Amino acid sequence: MPHCAALILAGGFGSRVGANIPKQYLFINGKSVLRRTIEIFEAHPLIDSIQVVIGEMDGELYSKTVTGIDICAPVIGGSTRQASGLKGLETLERLSPDLVLIHDAARPLVDHATIDRVINGLEKNSAVLPAIPVSDTLKRSTGVPPTVDHTIPRADIWCAQTPQGFRYHQILDAHRRNTDPSLTDDAAIAENAGIAVALVQGNRRNFKITDQEDFERAARVIAGTTPDIRIGSGFDIHTFAEGSHVILCGIKLKHDRALAGHSDADVAMHAVTDALLGAISAGDIGRHFPPGDKKWRGAKSRIFLEHANKLVIHRGGQIGNIDLTIICEAPQISPYAKQMVNSLSGILNIDSSRINIKATTTETLGFTGRREGIAAHASVTVRLS
Ligand code: MG
Repeated sequence: MPHCAALILAGGFGSRVGANIPKQYLFINGKSVLRRTIEIFEAHPLIDSIQVVIGEMDGELYSKTVTGIDICAPVIGGSTRQASGLKGLETLERLSPDLVLIHDAARPLVDHATIDRVINGLEKNSAVLPAIPVSDTLKRSTGVPPTVDHTIPRADIWCAQTPQGFRYHQILDAHRRNTDPSLTDDAAIAENAGIAVALVQGNRRNFKITDQEDFERAARVIAGTTPDIRIGSGFDIHTFAEGSHVILCGIKLKHDRALAGHSDADVAMHAVTDALLGAISAGDIGRHFPPGDKKWRGAKSRIFLEHANKLVIHRGGQIGNIDLTIICEAPQISPYAKQMVNSLSGILNIDSSRINIKATTTETLGFTGRREGIAAHASVTVRLS
């Protein structure tokens, strides 16, 4: 296996973001841009070493941003991107890697598949560039105020991304020989040195963060791919009263007692309802259906559960799973468990495989042991989008 190094260029100042620290140290959803970028390369199985090039004044910012990451010391860059690239490449000489992937720190949304395509491309090519075809029509305008001089045919035009992959010694040599200060990426340096640069498919999500709008877009992308899982728990108790059956999860269970309560006293469904409300920080069942309200006397508890489910959906949530424990000496729950699962599954419109119902006694201890009532405890997960 060839030794593959990643060189991450983080020496820029990012003047277009309007912050007083370089943009690569700004946070997106709780993590700095540079840390996100480093973590992606660190997690890639074919990357053997990572070298970061930083700005002269950024030592402290850098050490904060890589806290807890096992990474070699950064190197201070030069005054231009090219100078920084060269310094980074020279620092890698001690490792003498076979391949090097040079990446902009300001592209924290690079994916492993793009990195794979670049590395695979280097098996047959000396230089590989991830790129995406231009989709907008291109115009040239040189006047003030700007008016169109002419339209540039976009066929065969590609947007260059990073990481750009090279044979290490070739790109080091090309950098050392380069005399054109106007080149804006490493592939251009390779091209000027007569190295053929192959294109592989990039990824539209792998955009470079240059301004505030890019930051907001990146935050939306990251939020969309990071699952926001909420856990809710609910607990309820109802006492026994005169009667011939109890209702649990909407199912009638024959028993020599009934459960007392303002509604139909479906203690199990109340626990699930409370767990769902808890998962979306929506208070508890009593807040939505005050027990003093005559409206809910004898009400079917599925009304409460349906309401909680509506709130979950309204919040953009999706139920992950429900685990319900019913605590009593009697009636026996297991013969009815499947029916109860199907009842909840129907009301909540989720697959029954996401619902578990189990029962336990308290070994004749406590109020449930004395057969004074039934308790129920529910845990749920809700995935928010
Ligand atoms: Mg209750």
